[in-house]
Amino acid sequence: MLRMKIITSALLIAFTCGMAYAKEIALTFDDLPAQEDVSAQEQKEINDRILNSLQSFNAPAIGFVNESKLTNKGETSEKIAILKSWIDKRQCLGNHTYSHNALSTTDLDDFQNDVIKGAMISKELMHNAGLSYRYFRHPYLDTGGSKEKRDLFDKFLKIQGYVIAPATIDTDDWKFNRELHKNPNAKKQIIQNYLEHTKRKFRFYEHASHKMFGRNIKHVWLLHANLINSLAMDDLLKLASEFGYKFVSLDAVLNDKAYSEPDYYYDAFGVSWLYRWDYTRGKIIDWSQEPEPNLS
Ligand SMILES: [Zn+2]
Repeated sequence: MLRMKIITSALLIAFTCGMAYAKEIALTFDDLPAQEDVSAQEQKEINDRILNSLQSFNAPAIGFVNESKLTNKGETSEKIAILKSWIDKRQCLGNHTYSHNALSTTDLDDFQNDVIKGAMISKELMHNAGLSYRYFRHPYLDTGGSKEKRDLFDKFLKIQGYVIAPATIDTDDWKFNRELHKNPNAKKQIIQNYLEHTKRKFRFYEHASHKMFGRNIKHVWLLHANLINSLAMDDLLKLASEFGYKFVSLDAVLNDKAYSEPDYYYDAFGVSWLYRWDYTRGKIIDWSQEPEPNLS
């Protein structure tokens, strides 16, 4: 009987701890319809591969759109169809501004107009599907470059009904993507390097999180809708699963109280929110140890 009780208690503790410390991550993809300025057909192929991988891992995601890309080279209806395919797969869309300018170097009024202009199509697609359109991701993660500008812009976002989409994990995908376009014959090696780098970055951010919070917080992974992710998405999702992550929505991640930490980092340079919080607390993390991509 006692033995039974001990086993039951052990199971209960394991279950409770398992629940409390489950690793969770939200997937976010920037620069939709695609980071590459290629034909609508090629953009469609990139997005189809990403969406299929997400579906096979039952992973929710949000795609942040630059609506200027829908019209800049024609094929507008084909590109809108790409956005529609995200909604059809029950994935979400958010606002990444119309033009993808940096907030710190753009006049505030112009930038705010660019946010409004950037919601025209995506918002309607989301609303037509009965989904709430409310997330905003800063281009380059540039939040303004000064306290004054950031405060004014944050106020604007709030009035407009937006919630800022932070990012804690950045695996430098766009750098590997640029390398892949430069050297397509080395595809296999570049993807391998990208996956290895992703592992190193996961370990680094988890270590930082433990050091700062005494636990691994729920994470937001910054990715882009681009060629390398479309080719590596199955492997990337497998890698995150092997790290123990469950894929959850951005809403679910932002329930973590870590996201209400104060952030007094006012520099324009885009950094992980872990860096922002660490900077605000007085820097206990050695950021010089943050892994650099292995690129030629
Ligand atoms: Zn972007």
